[in-house]
Amino acid sequence: MNVDHTIHKTEFKKAVIYNLKISYRRTIEDATAAQMYQAVALAVKDMIIDRWIATHKEYEKQDAKVVYYMSMEFLTGRFLGNNIISLCEQEEIREALAEMGFDLNTIENQERDPALGNGGLGRLAACFLDSLATLGYPAYGCGIRYRYGMFKQKIEDGYQIEVPDEWLKDGYPFEIRRPEYATEVKFGGYVDTEWDGHRNHFVQKGYQSVLAVPYDIPIVGYGNNVVNSLRIWDAQPVNTFNLKEFDKGDYQKAVEQENLAKTIVEVLYPNDNHYAGKELRLRQQYFFISASVQRAVKKYLENHDDIHKFYEKAVFQMNDTHPTVAVAELMRILLDEQNLEWDEAWEITTKTCAYTNHTIMSEALEKWPIELFSRLLPRIYQIVEEINRRFVEEIKKAYPGDNEKIRKMAIIYDGQVRMAHLAIVGSFSVNGVARLHTEILKNEELKDFYQMMPAKFNNKTNGITQRRFLLHGNPLLASWVTDKIGNEWITDLSHIKKLAIYADDEKCQREFMNIKYQNKIRLAKYIKEHNGIDVDPRSIFDVQVKRLHEYKRQLMNILHVMYLYNQLKDNPNMDIVPRTFIFGAKAAAGYTRAKLTIKLINAVADVINNDRSINGKIKVVFIEDYCVSNAEMIFAAADVSEQISTASKEASGTGNMKFMLNGALTIGTMDGANVEMAEEVGAENMFIFGASSDEIINWENQGGYNPMEIFNSDQEIRRVLMQLINGSYSPQNPELFRDIYNSLLNTQSSDRADTYFILKDFRSYAEAEDRIDKAYRDEKWWARTAILNTASSGKFSSDRTIEEYVRDIWHLDKIKVEL
Ligand SMILES: *Cc1c(COP(=O)(O)O)cnc(C)c1O
Repeated sequence: MNVDHTIHKTEFKKAVIYNLKISYRRTIEDATAAQMYQAVALAVKDMIIDRWIATHKEYEKQDAKVVYYMSMEFLTGRFLGNNIISLCEQEEIREALAEMGFDLNTIENQERDPALGNGGLGRLAACFLDSLATLGYPAYGCGIRYRYGMFKQKIEDGYQIEVPDEWLKDGYPFEIRRPEYATEVKFGGYVDTEWDGHRNHFVQKGYQSVLAVPYDIPIVGYGNNVVNSLRIWDAQPVNTFNLKEFDKGDYQKAVEQENLAKTIVEVLYPNDNHYAGKELRLRQQYFFISASVQRAVKKYLENHDDIHKFYEKAVFQMNDTHPTVAVAELMRILLDEQNLEWDEAWEITTKTCAYTNHTIMSEALEKWPIELFSRLLPRIYQIVEEINRRFVEEIKKAYPGDNEKIRKMAIIYDGQVRMAHLAIVGSFSVNGVARLHTEILKNEELKDFYQMMPAKFNNKTNGITQRRFLLHGNPLLASWVTDKIGNEWITDLSHIKKLAIYADDEKCQREFMNIKYQNKIRLAKYIKEHNGIDVDPRSIFDVQVKRLHEYKRQLMNILHVMYLYNQLKDNPNMDIVPRTFIFGAKAAAGYTRAKLTIKLINAVADVINNDRSINGKIKVVFIEDYCVSNAEMIFAAADVSEQISTASKEASGTGNMKFMLNGALTIGTMDGANVEMAEEVGAENMFIFGASSDEIINWENQGGYNPMEIFNSDQEIRRVLMQLINGSYSPQNPELFRDIYNSLLNTQSSDRADTYFILKDFRSYAEAEDRIDKAYRDEKWWARTAILNTASSGKFSSDRTIEEYVRDIWHLDKIKVEL
């Protein structure tokens, strides 16, 4: 981009001063940092707007096919810094602000992190939008404008406290309300049939409705003038109806509609990988899907007259089963509003919809009780029934007399609507998110579907955007990389492999490790400020940050810390490299055992950090409120990345990739994308341990294993487990961690003992941790391996993932935007 930066800087300053004046009646001298943030964001939005308009003109001109990425969650993180980078204006704006007496980083930190997602699934959606815009593909993100996003986590007395996230409180400067696209969404009532002399029409009557009103947030492509939209829907009462009902004296109904609108978008469900089965959740799903699908069809019909070719201009990618009602909603619109025959409508629908599976864990599978589903969505339920009836006929044809197949594959069975089955049957593509995961889908979980419709199944290994997780999150390393190999890596991460030639160069090793050290100092300061704990930036920063879930095995990590501490207590002179174990994790508000695990981590931290006798050789830190903003800083500072899920349970993981990009070494199981990471960097450059997914699946099929054998035969493990129930870490209440102890050893609960094979893998894990200790002493080996990890991360860009989606599933054309 060729811009005259002096003019630019002056213009920018003028814009900021103007925004301060008209928004806050303030001058630069008396503006607060928060006001400055708003004024700067509006000035940046101004730079985005022309590109945004031009992009949509270009869509229209080229009559471009569009992907609608439908997702209940978009965990975008802050926008200001990323937008500035994408506009390639970072240095100018930094200077302009400095000349006005402000620091860009401080202003960026004023932004409330839009946390409209839980964890990996929502973050993936955000990375995909970034890549789509940067690669120049026409795309909409479709989601919900939750008034309260993911809760903020506070730690009090070691316990997690959930605090509402009021991200909209001061207004969100980047969004634009689009009332002209408001759409009515109907719930409940009953379906009437009306005969018009030719055919029956199905009409929903006696329903309640809400008005879906979209807000668009710009998604700025890097350096290419492309600006796509994240469209999130707000709910409002349908005013005209409201008044009419009121006139009729139906006050009750008017108030009901008002409340329905208020509650529907009130809050994001804070469950990650877990189905809650709440009516409000199904309402949320249909709400944003109905609005998005209605709008997509309407937009198509503005410029096309043949609805039969809808799929040539639109594709719906369903992020997990949460948006699966899209299949039935598109059918409804085609049948009831466009008056198509079933077969025509079905052909269009199944050429438009595609489904991404994110988990094989049974507790995450969405199954709605028929009673609830049909009461809330009576017409949609009729359509699902007919889809099911026809699908069961197909099963019978393919497997005559095999009732077992029907039991296993039907969409409606045993009083429930199985959303994954509807998603598979209604889609032309079904993809897993890492090679291992897709293989497990094909050979185990979805075997019957794979055998019946193999052509639908494909793999798209997840990725992450290097623009956020290296260029923005780790500026020191980003400019070092650019110095060495040029800047093409920013839009094509495959170039990063060129770094490999520097891996053995001692000067480069020193530079690389010095950057890591600077980033560790930055994180150590943050820890000092937020936790009051002194950590030594020369110690190994060993990090596990991700949602708290039993399958992710934070418990195994902290049990190992307890084990190491026992060794140090027995032998205070034990020669170990000082290590800082860093955790960050939110637990779902209702997930008792996960919350108790957070308490355990903090209890262990309290004891260890305050024990002078171990000379600070180990420290334990729990970072409050893990979210995208602090994540960026944490990845940059990590030496060791803990990716220790029970093999087969983590579909892909994306945190693993962010660490690798930032030069951390992985300790991990052969699970999810770790398998492909090992392939890229070489298993000798990771610390791999534990049972394989085949072994785990075999043990599971045999009903588990007996952890008591390990308890009885391994004294050191037994000692750690006894410390859970003898008050070592909870002297006031020795019973506090009894549930965790029981989960590992007893079958008093309905689960198998040690469902996630923690004790089974423990020795192998401890041995891998010990290999890290030994390896870190060899500074050259470590530096070389860290550089090689960064250099081998090219595959894990979401740009690569998106190109594969486009090639195999979406078939989009790139657009070019000239200003
Ligand atoms: C990447 C990311 C995740 C996903 O992490 P995993 O280790 O893959 O589970 C969750 N939360 C945030 C904030 C992230 O940035």
